Parts: sequence; structure tokens; C-alpha cells
Amino acid sequence: MNFTFNLNGVEPGGNGVESGGHDFDVVIIGGGPAGATAAMYTARADLKTAVIDKGLTAGALGVTAKIANYPGIVGEISGAELLQRMRKQAESFGARFIQDKVQAVDLTSEPKLIFGNNGTYSARAVIIATGSMGRGQRVKGEDELLGRGVSYCATCDAAFFQGQTVAVAGNSDEAIEEALFLTRFADRVHLLSPTPELKAPEQMVAEIIDHPKVTVHLGASVREVLGANHVEGLRVALRGQGEVVLPVSGAFFYVQGARPITDFVQGQLEVSDSGCLIVDSEYRTALPGVYAVGDVLCNHVKQAVVAAAEGAIAAMAVDKELHGRKQMAVDWSK
Ligand SMILES: Cc1cc2nc3c(=O)[nH]c(=O)nc-3n(C[C@H](O)[C@H](O)[C@H](O)COP(=O)(O)OP(=O)(O)OC[C@H]3O[C@@H](n4cnc5c(N)ncnc54)[C@H](O)[C@@H]3O)c2cc1C
Repeated sequence: MNFTFNLNGVEPGGNGVESGGHDFDVVIIGGGPAGATAAMYTARADLKTAVIDKGLTAGALGVTAKIANYPGIVGEISGAELLQRMRKQAESFGARFIQDKVQAVDLTSEPKLIFGNNGTYSARAVIIATGSMGRGQRVKGEDELLGRGVSYCATCDAAFFQGQTVAVAGNSDEAIEEALFLTRFADRVHLLSPTPELKAPEQMVAEIIDHPKVTVHLGASVREVLGANHVEGLRVALRGQGEVVLPVSGAFFYVQGARPITDFVQGQLEVSDSGCLIVDSEYRTALPGVYAVGDVLCNHVKQAVVAAAEGAIAAMAVDKELHGRKQMAVDWSK
């Protein structure tokens, strides 16, 4: 299959991180309940497992304030806390969680290659578990000025904004991380949170609020990216204050929506009309060694327990495929 990578300007293995040094049996893209549960099962089956995840609060469970219907959890718990417990459990069996955003993949090569902002990872099998918090609708001017001041990757493009004023739209830990990264280059960073509060761990929120180069705007929604050939400003609706124009030369978007996140697949897998990945009853895609689970599929029930169960089923299928046997072999003494 022929395809070209669009890495948002990043070379595979770019940003000074060596490529080729991360070889795994299984790489799971996305560390929500689907990915974390899959990791628990593959690691426990002695498969060298890595989960690449862009941020604890960048997914549906991570962003949920209270969850009360997950089996075994009595009372209320935050989604982020539940997720941390799942990740700890998977780590206890040997899974490795790596914070990175996957920008592209080569699912037809052997081993399969996964290109993140911070490095390139290789694996014999890949499980895609990126959920459905992707943005659908773009704002006016965004597509036209993409690559001319509009970006989705501060880690890739921040250095172009030395001494300038930029804005980051989003409220998750991913958005905050990227805004903090931009402060190394830009003179001023406006963080535009669409919600009245930031949805990230307390320490991170404190760091961004106290940062001398950052101005945090709560309840701020970007309406339009302004500029002829390059970004010159953003038209922003501020809750209770009407619209303002913010003069910036860079606009970085990390706003969450409700579309399956499959952009990094770049045509290598079939998707449905609704943009969901297509799998069989064991969560295999049409490509050997490539699986997909959780909200990235068109599940009619989107619940954490369903996503987790799918992760478990796919992990067992991966184990069967990699070990070439009919049943998953688990050492129950572990
Ligand atoms: C507001 C809200 C409330 C909810 N309440 C409940 C509830 O009470 N009970 C319940 O059971 N369910 C609830 N759900 C549904 C539940 O959260 C989801 O069904 C479940 O989280 C789906 O799991 P997932 O692992 O497929 O995706 P997610 O939980 O979305 O996880 C996907 C992960 O992939 C990562 N990711 C995405 N793209 C990339 C990339 N390019 N590179 C690296 N990592 C990436 C994200 O960082 C994220 O961690 C709620 C959902 C929402 C939005």
C-alpha cells in the first residue's frame, strides 16, 4: 500500500529523540479504559507492552468528573482517578506508559511503526484505542491558515514562534502541557479554555495560572482565525463579555469534540461513514496484527466498562496471534 506521512512538519523520531530504540511486542495507542485494560492483559501474558497516550485528561474517561457505575467501585470516583488505578494495575504487570501524541503510523511494515512527537516506536502488533474525543467542526479560517500559524502540535512548531504572542485553545492536560512548552519560545501565551475551569490535575493548573508568560482565559471560545496569508488574530467569545479580537501570530488547537480519533491512520484502515474504525468480533481490523477497541469504534453503548471489556478481548486475540496458539496462556500465579 502506498501512502505519504503527514507529520505536521515533524520527521519520524524527530525532536532530538532517537528513533528505533523502542521495540515492543504490542504498542497500544491510547491509554483510556480500553487501552489500559488491553495493556493489563498483554503485559500479563508476557508480551512487552507500551501504551502511548497524549494526556490523562485528554480522553472521555479522564475528563469525566464523577463516575459511579464502574464495577467494583462503590461510591463516586473521578474518571482520572479510576484511569490512574487502571494504569497502575497494568504497570504492575510490566506495561510501560509513555506520554506522547501519535501523529502517524505505518501499519503495513514489519514491525509496525508508530511515529510520536517524541520518538518512533515499533511493535509486532498495534491496538488502536484513541477514543472519540476528536474535533469535528473547525472554526472559520482554521483550514485556510493551517501551517501558516494554525497548528495542532506545539512540540513540533513552537520554535517558529520565538518572541511572538500565541494562543492555545483547550482545557485538558494536553493543552496545558503544550501551552507550557510554548512559553520556552513565545513571549506571551494565551490559554483559551472553553469551560469555566481547567480539566487537569491541580498541580498543573497551578503551574499554568502562575506562569508569568501565560494569560488564562476561562469560558473562552474561538469563533474565527483571522489573517490573510498568516494568522494575525483570533475572534474569541468570552463568557459574559461578548467578543474580542486577540492579536496573535500562532493558534494551537486542542479542543475536544465527539469524533473518533483516527487522523494518524491516514487512510491505511477502512472507516465507516461516521468515521469509526471497522473490526471483526475479536476487534481485528483488515490489516494483520492491527486491532481497534473502545469508543473509536461505532459502539452503540459508550461506557467505560464496555471499552475495558473490548480491550481485554482484543488483548487475548493479540496474544493468540503473536504466540500462534488457540488460547491465551496466562500464568495465574502472577
Ligand atoms: C462527559 C462524559 C461522561 C461519561 N460518564 C460515564 C460514566 O459515568 N460511566 C461510564 O461507564 N462511562 C462514561 N462515559 C463514557 C466513557 O468515558 C467512555 O465510553 C470511555 O472512556 C471510552 O474509553 P476509550 O478508552 O475508548 O476512550 P477514552 O477514554 O476517550 O481514551 C482515549 C485515550 O486515547 C488518548 N489518545 C487519543 N488520541 C491520541 C493520540 N493521537 N496519541 C496518543 N494518545 C491519544 C487520549 O489521551 C485518551 O487517554 C462518559 C463520557 C463522557 C465524555
